[in-house]
Amino acid sequence: MFGLITNVDMKYINNILKQNVPLFVELFNAHEYKDDFGHSPEWNEEMEQWLSFVKSINPTWYESNKSRVNTEKQRDELLGEYKSLYYFGKILGCKITQFEPAGNNNKKNDYAFYDKGNEEWYTEVKSPSWRGEVSKEINSSYLDKLKQNIVITESWPECKAEITCPNCSNVIEIKLSSFEFKQEEVYEIIKKTLCNKCKKNIWHFSENERAKLKKERLSKPQFINGEGRSYSDRDAVEDAVKKSVAQFAKGRNNLLFIPHNMFAGIGTGLFTAMNGGTTVMEVVKKYDPEGIITCVCLLDVQLDEKGIKFIPVFVPILKQPLVNNEKL
Ligand SMILES: [Zn+2]
Repeated sequence: MFGLITNVDMKYINNILKQNVPLFVELFNAHEYKDDFGHSPEWNEEMEQWLSFVKSINPTWYESNKSRVNTEKQRDELLGEYKSLYYFGKILGCKITQFEPAGNNNKKNDYAFYDKGNEEWYTEVKSPSWRGEVSKEINSSYLDKLKQNIVITESWPECKAEITCPNCSNVIEIKLSSFEFKQEEVYEIIKKTLCNKCKKNIWHFSENERAKLKKERLSKPQFINGEGRSYSDRDAVEDAVKKSVAQFAKGRNNLLFIPHNMFAGIGTGLFTAMNGGTTVMEVVKKYDPEGIITCVCLLDVQLDEKGIKFIPVFVPILKQPLVNNEKL
């Protein structure tokens, strides 16, 4: 979370150190994340609860997971698992019975628990990943802008062109393999081009701007709900179903758990709005014709003035775990 340390970041670091979140600090402190992870005291405190719960029920497993936080994606996947363990084990008070139980063939599931009717449920947690899509989209929009700025000056025998430096407006000569303007090749050239006047790499020049934009987009619900969305809630469910079907053993209670990525800001009930579960049912029918998945649970965790709220949506394919929802 402390990639490029600016004064603003220092303030966050100091705040975190002042907060009573020792496990959070221990686990994430040394990592350089490029998103705004760690900047919300409320979320940090909430995550501390998840970490503390998981550590209390299985300290050995907790220790062995400490290396799974190097990238934003790994971190979010691990937190997805912890969040779901916290939800079933702590909030609903179900007994967690196994960690990484054997699944199909040589594959493992994430964990198993007993519901209130003493039935055991094998659980796979699949966290949707929007982050990579946002990043790719923003990068290519910047590459496109630079590409549009290329003017071919000579097309034969050699293909020469000019590109204007976005920093100092100096005109830089570049060479292309042909005047066909192949996108991948042009992108590669742009990424390597140095301005001979200001000495800046024309692609790295926009790095801070792009990072800022990514951070903004990832914290705005408009990204997911609005235009330009390339990764939908249906895609997220499809990915999760396809991957988990291969991992579950047949003939057991298999629960696919899909946590909402809190930093993507999907917003209230987007999953719920998937036609009251009909879309989830359709997806499962399409990718799980053998009926291996018993139930899908979508969980949204939200922060409002009153604090953190867990908002689960159970979509029973055959049935759903018996849980006590009264406390919610
Ligand atoms: Zn320049």
